[in-house]
Amino acid sequence: MEKLCTKCGRTLPVKCFNKSKGHLYGVSSQCKDCWKVYTKRYYASGKARVVFRKRRVAHPHWVWSTQTVTSHRKYGLEVLIDPRELEKRAREARFCAICGGELDWTPLRGKTHNDTPSLDRIDNTSTLTLENTQIVCHLCNRTKNNRTMKESIKYCERVIEYRSK
Ligand SMILES: [Zn+2]
Ligand SMILES: [Zn+2]
Repeated sequence: MEKLCTKCGRTLPVKCFNKSKGHLYGVSSQCKDCWKVYTKRYYASGKARVVFRKRRVAHPHWVWSTQTVTSHRKYGLEVLIDPRELEKRAREARFCAICGGELDWTPLRGKTHNDTPSLDRIDNTSTLTLENTQIVCHLCNRTKNNRTMKESIKYCERVIEYRSK
């Protein structure tokens, strides 16, 4: 089977086109080569960044969820969380699960702030699930560091005990 590329006008085998539902033979109307040129230009033009900004403003919880999953994977952790599930949780997370402080989901605030939401591993294992994670503020996450939740509470208790002497 062959198809005509509407961009370069070449007639090429169907395998030279990207899959695309709803088009003739289930492939895109432009060949792979033309797509490559297009996407290269697209990213070079900086339009991708504009689109990303818009997407972030429109769907802050979704962008946070996908970025959180990606960054934890990059960090070498196993993530068994569906970003859609995480987004659902993010939408409900108005307050930090540790200190109760209000989280700020406003997108594009520049650098990380103390009340910027982040995903915390409750038991600090290297496999992340919805059950062993919670959404906390950046400051709590930094303070907790690599402690488990139990260790953190113990630590706080020790501080209170010592300081009240
Ligand atoms: Zn083409
Ligand atoms: Zn907090």
